[in-house]
Amino acid sequence: MKSAAATQAVIETLAHQHPDADTELHYRNPFELLAATILSAQATDAGVNKVTPALFAKFPDARALAEAPAEDVERLIHSTGFFRQKAKSLMGMSRALVEHHGGEVPRTMEALVRLPGVGRKTANVVLGHALGVPGLPVDRHVLRVSNRLGIADSDDPDRVEQQLTGALPPALWTLASDTLILHGRRICKPEPSCSRCAATETCAFYAEASASPAPPPRRAAKPGRAAGVRPAKKPATSRRR
Ligand code: SF4
Repeated sequence: MKSAAATQAVIETLAHQHPDADTELHYRNPFELLAATILSAQATDAGVNKVTPALFAKFPDARALAEAPAEDVERLIHSTGFFRQKAKSLMGMSRALVEHHGGEVPRTMEALVRLPGVGRKTANVVLGHALGVPGLPVDRHVLRVSNRLGIADSDDPDRVEQQLTGALPPALWTLASDTLILHGRRICKPEPSCSRCAATETCAFYAEASASPAPPPRRAAKPGRAAGVRPAKKPATSRRR
């Protein structure tokens, strides 16, 4: 795995390539981002952005959403998928905010992950973007791209979060996540477009694929693994920096 300095350098390289890196969810306050992030599970950000204006027009805060009729919430968020479970999470989260936090979104990871429907990834999105507290959300894009680059070495999101936050200064955590997510969506897709990537010179996956007889880098993911998450055993020909 790369050193902290090399990790920071590769993030800065990719941040130059994606100067617009930021969450693509629309929100006006921490509560709206928390609700939108819950809705974004198994849905696109664009799809979530289509339903949240009407949702927040009708239920603008935790108190309103806590007391909402479930069928109204389900109807408003229906197109994002898994709408019954998501409505339950939104209303449970809102009730917990009202009961334990005066209707406000708490500013700590510990308190956030106690809310219904909120895991570390969602908590980090809200901390980093809406509360000004450093957070590094690890989604499937961050997982895939960071492993390919050689700045992480695990298919466990919590472990990758530890590795990246251990290597980067807190001020870069949220930007690093946003940058890796955008890079994963636009270029380092499951089938990566390496010819358009600014980080080929330092990418472990590219170096391995280039050293192999097959043309780089069109390797399929093994069943049960995130695409591009390298196996623990490293080929003798791999080049690490
Ligand atoms: S060189 Fe290819 S595999 Fe490596 S980060 Fe760039 S797009 Fe992804």
